[in-house]
Amino acid sequence: MEQRSQVEILFKVIDETASLLREELACTYIEGVAETGENLFQQAILQEEISELSKKRLEKEYSLFYKQRFTKEEIRKAYQLSILKGMHEASQANHQMTPDAVALFIGYLVKKVTEGKEQLSIFDPAIGTGNLLTAVLNQNTDKTVKAYGCDVDDLLIRLAFVNANLQEQNVELFNQDSLEALYVDPVDVIVCDLPYGYYPNDVNASNYQLKAETGHSYAHHLFIEQSLKYTQEGGFVLLLIPNALFESDQTKQLNSFLHEHAYIQGLIQLPSTMFKQKEAAKSVFILQKKAEGVQAPKQTLLANLPSFSNKEAMSNMVQKIDQWFKDEKVKM
Ligand code: SAM
Repeated sequence: MEQRSQVEILFKVIDETASLLREELACTYIEGVAETGENLFQQAILQEEISELSKKRLEKEYSLFYKQRFTKEEIRKAYQLSILKGMHEASQANHQMTPDAVALFIGYLVKKVTEGKEQLSIFDPAIGTGNLLTAVLNQNTDKTVKAYGCDVDDLLIRLAFVNANLQEQNVELFNQDSLEALYVDPVDVIVCDLPYGYYPNDVNASNYQLKAETGHSYAHHLFIEQSLKYTQEGGFVLLLIPNALFESDQTKQLNSFLHEHAYIQGLIQLPSTMFKQKEAAKSVFILQKKAEGVQAPKQTLLANLPSFSNKEAMSNMVQKIDQWFKDEKVKM
């Protein structure tokens, strides 16, 4: 009989218990995932209103989780699969989790820019489910890390809270609009899968250099400005951006803002095969905030990633990127 992987075993536990809680609580599957995740973390059944029979069934499933040892990455992946299932069911466009391969790739880049650092502070101002941030944290376990996350969506921040807890990752979370004032000191590194679109709060937008002259401002532009504001001098901002970022009517303002505050270290296009529509394609944008002693790269890292499933091409690309980091001595 085929052996099931740890991720599959754990996914089955989360899936079956989330489905049971959905029935019992008349909630959505994804809310069931958050409920079951909290139960697993608290080692208790927190929903008093459910039947004794359901409690017994939950206990039986949970015992599988407590009996086995799962790594942080196995937990992240199993949790990610159940969230994906929930998002698929609800088909909510604004609930978009950063895909696994991209999250891992950004984790690798964070490792490169922070090489040799023993302590690190990192912040994701659009943390969503926490998939991107926890993937990055799991790849940077050689450092003492202080991590922060913020999201305006209360269900997503709850999922991020459970996700981080189950992986035993200490992340300080804030449930608010990240474009308002934040209770986070400037950090070494910002990672963010940028929300894209218009920002409805014109009053708050007026505090930004990158506000629109008329009408609503672009949330993605304001997010870039806010990210640089909450980064220490010489720190890095690693953003997942739409390829169309530099094709808008406000590209000139964005370019001159970036020129004033940061060095563009790299722009790496993700494989187009990842995206159903060409317009949805994204890139990883690497910025370093200006500081004394920090210089522009002799050559910006420009690359098109091959498909993540093409192991050989990917390994060649990683070698090239490694070489670029060596040549340019880009780090904090
Ligand atoms: N990296 C996340 C993950 O792995 O789940 C996904 C990020 S998703 C592409 C963008 C996120 O930005 C959404 O979770 C959305 O709720 C959040 N968002 C949008 N506008 C926001 C705002 N003004 N302040 C804070 N979060 C915001």
